[in-house]
Amino acid sequence: MTPTPSSTTPDSLGLLVLGSGPAGVQAATAYVRAGGTGPVVVLSADRDEPYQRPPLSKSVLAGEEPPEATPVLEDEEDVAAFGQVDLRLDTRVASVDTGGRRVRTEDGTELAYDRLVVATGAFPVELDGVGADARVFSLRTLEHSRRLVEAVGSATSAVVVGSGFIGCEAAASLAGRGVRTTLVTPEPAPQAARLGDWAGERIAAWLREAGVELRTGRTVASVTAPATVRLDDDSQVEADLVLAAVGVAPPTGFLDGALEMQDDRVRVGASMQTSDERVWAAGDVAQAHHPVAGRPLSVEHWYDAESMGATAGRNAAAYGSSEGSGGSPEEWSDVPGFWSDIGEHTLKYSAWGDGYDHAETVDHGEGAFTVWYADAAGLLVGVLAHERDEDYERGGELMADGATLAQALAAR
Ligand SMILES: Cc1cc2nc3c(=O)[nH]c(=O)nc-3n(C[C@H](O)[C@H](O)[C@H](O)COP(=O)(O)OP(=O)(O)OC[C@H]3O[C@@H](n4cnc5c(N)ncnc54)[C@H](O)[C@@H]3O)c2cc1C
Repeated sequence: MTPTPSSTTPDSLGLLVLGSGPAGVQAATAYVRAGGTGPVVVLSADRDEPYQRPPLSKSVLAGEEPPEATPVLEDEEDVAAFGQVDLRLDTRVASVDTGGRRVRTEDGTELAYDRLVVATGAFPVELDGVGADARVFSLRTLEHSRRLVEAVGSATSAVVVGSGFIGCEAAASLAGRGVRTTLVTPEPAPQAARLGDWAGERIAAWLREAGVELRTGRTVASVTAPATVRLDDDSQVEADLVLAAVGVAPPTGFLDGALEMQDDRVRVGASMQTSDERVWAAGDVAQAHHPVAGRPLSVEHWYDAESMGATAGRNAAAYGSSEGSGGSPEEWSDVPGFWSDIGEHTLKYSAWGDGYDHAETVDHGEGAFTVWYADAAGLLVGVLAHERDEDYERGGELMADGATLAQALAAR
């Protein structure tokens, strides 16, 4: 039997949200808009008001926009709803006690909650072999961006380590503003592991056209001050700075056994509810069961974080209410997807995100292409499109319908 939740006590918050990224902001906003009870507080380690991260590796690093906060909410009613939220910046959570429904911050403050949303995102993985005082930068926060942009202002050369979307975007942005840029990656071509050799070669060509020198099939052995990068073949690249873009991981140490985890992320159902019925998790920190894919997915995309956060917020608002307890909770069932701008080129990618067995490339000519991805059973599991928006849109719809690769190709 599901225990009836007690009402919010005067010293307890209606909703406490951890994190002010897209998932946290949407969770708080959706909770208020859905009529959730009690005060809402958002705690965030970020020092800046909520801002868009995607421009940081694109227009901001390219020098087209300053490293300043760009608002994350556009809808007037969302802005008004978030205006009712008590946002506490520069406040890092140290521990969560789900039994006592309390959260402790690093400065020792304790907050009691009735419902909790964990939306603490992910943080860059550090590059191994970095010596003292080496000029190695990360890029996740606006603070990172300010430091990097300032350093780039006086740099003539840079090394980007890693060929994921952020590494590729950053390398193209740096080269585009005249910084001599070398991209180092263990992959045979950028993103070949994720998107296949054909797409990897296309991206490599774009980067070369933008002026990026590629060192593929290579790993970094060490970086010594100021920014000398030694590769595993003993060659060396001298630069003014290094940007490490070698992946992200959710920092979940503060949860320490409070919630069930899966692959180092908080395990949630499609309703974003965790192993504790008063706690939801959303965005990069969560691994969510997807009702269409039929398996748990780890997704690191802006709009999916927003959508998961909004789902968590609305379900938290409905929790225990006479209206909410009658119906089924809302599910996050979007097909995950995102866009990436690599210099002049925009790639649109939609996929379940856990690999593929077969890729079918359609070259439409004049630079436009679509790559369709299928699993071993022939089911469509992803689509990558360049200058072919209709395929990106249709690919997502076909995946949602459980279509096969053959159906996707036949429907062209
Ligand atoms: C440079 C860059 C470019 C990107 N470009 C794209 C793109 O083009 N398209 C796309 O789809 N995605 C892009 N992404 C990814 C996208 O930004 C993330 O998927 C998204 O931000 C995840 O949202 P989130 O709310 O889960 O986490 P985050 O945005 O990481 O927010 C996490 C929040 O939790 C806070 N926090 C963490 N730990 C604690 C703690 N212990 N206590 C309190 N607060 C804490 C952080 O301060 C932060 O406010 C990009 C990311 C970066 C860095």
